[in-house]
Amino acid sequence: MESTTVSEKVNVLIIGSGPAGYTAAIYASRANLKPVLYQGIQPGGQLTITTEVENYPGYAEGVQGPQMMVDFEKQAARMGADIRFGLATKVDFSAQPYKVQIDEEKWIEADSVIIATGASAKWLGLPSEERLNGFGVSACAVCDGFFFRGKEVAIVGAGDTAAEEALYLSKLCTTVHMFIRRSEMRASKVMQDRVVETPNIKVYWNTETEEILGDKTVTGVRIRNNLTQEIQEVPVNGFFVAIGHQPNSDIFKGWLDMDEAGYLKTVPGSTRTNVEGVFAAGDVQDKIYRQAVTAAGSGCMAALDAERYLSAKGLH
Ligand code: NDP
Repeated sequence: MESTTVSEKVNVLIIGSGPAGYTAAIYASRANLKPVLYQGIQPGGQLTITTEVENYPGYAEGVQGPQMMVDFEKQAARMGADIRFGLATKVDFSAQPYKVQIDEEKWIEADSVIIATGASAKWLGLPSEERLNGFGVSACAVCDGFFFRGKEVAIVGAGDTAAEEALYLSKLCTTVHMFIRRSEMRASKVMQDRVVETPNIKVYWNTETEEILGDKTVTGVRIRNNLTQEIQEVPVNGFFVAIGHQPNSDIFKGWLDMDEAGYLKTVPGSTRTNVEGVFAAGDVQDKIYRQAVTAAGSGCMAALDAERYLSAKGLH
């Protein structure tokens, strides 16, 4: 039987290190809750794979995403948060105190848990996509577009992200081949118009990706028109996937209520989940706004909710 020997007990355990997690850590530290925060596999979260952030209030000149997350982390550390590298791999919310397993080894007990695990980019699921990931295949045009200056690239997706990234790539690359699986785009009208009116974005309607070609790096892509079944090979050096995001909520399945897409459900106007003392903040529970500032705001709410919960229970 698996060992669940507990190595430590904490007041507030924060899982995740994006704007929601660090903001929760700042508020919980200042409330003297001595939070412990586990950063997960991508410390700093999704903002570490973006470049310029111009819409976060307080940075009048804008800021690079990775730098902003260094600033968040420093501020949380300065307030006294115990920030650790490690991944939450399992939870047991059957009874208070709750248990969270870290790196598939040690278990930590917590009187309250703040989940801020964010969301991750979705992939098509092709073996060639996995094999060439980092060798021409990317899910972040803003991070990797630079490597394909003056070259031809492809992008899959038809939402606002895909439109935004196609436009971004069109400024760097000679041609952007955009593959859209239906005969229309999901993106907002203004973004659709911009895409269609950009001369070096070539839109392929009703088109699906069969295979990404290349031995060591991407050299092309094989596509299929799903109406005519016609197959075509397009030579490209980069292949960008922009088909949406998935909340990082797998380890909470069976414990917490979530919607069909896996977003954690919280009581409106709060960060409370269906388990008392367990709170959720940021993109893991928000499929609508998904902004750094809204994630930070809900991280603040989670810390305040946790503090109230612990006080009411006499645990703080
Ligand atoms: P969306 O879920 O809106 O769009 C995903 C797109 O990917 C859809 O067009 C979908 O096609 C396509 N897709 C999904 N799976 C596949 C697949 N296997 N093969 C091919 N295509 C696939 O995600 P976004 O990330 O674009 O946007 C998320 C949210 O964020 C939206 O609400 C959006 O409006 C918002 N947003 C707003 C921005 C802004 O206002 N500036 C910028 C970026 C995002 P299909 O349409 O056929 O389902």
